[in-house]
Amino acid sequence: MDALVQWLVRRRLEDGRLPRGRITDVQHAVMNGLECDGCGALITKTHKAVTGVSVDDWRDIRMHVECFDVWDSERGGRGCRRQNIAPPRFEPTTSLESWWLF
Ligand SMILES: [Zn+2]
Repeated sequence: MDALVQWLVRRRLEDGRLPRGRITDVQHAVMNGLECDGCGALITKTHKAVTGVSVDDWRDIRMHVECFDVWDSERGGRGCRRQNIAPPRFEPTTSLESWWLF
């Protein structure tokens, strides 16, 4: 576990930028150029990422997979079995061009 990521996630849990409750609709995602809610770094298309919706306040959450694991551990979660997360789905806004990249 990266100590910096762990520290950043803890800070964000403490100041409320990250939820302590459950996240629903968790799935792997492909994104490019969006900020990770866990570490603040950009998520590029070469990174593995997870999205979900906070049950506490219904905000969208996106994180690197590694940050998600740290968040789940730091919030005292029971551990989300990522192997049970749905594979990426193709949103209606996904262009045919990007679809072919898969
Ligand atoms: Zn991150």
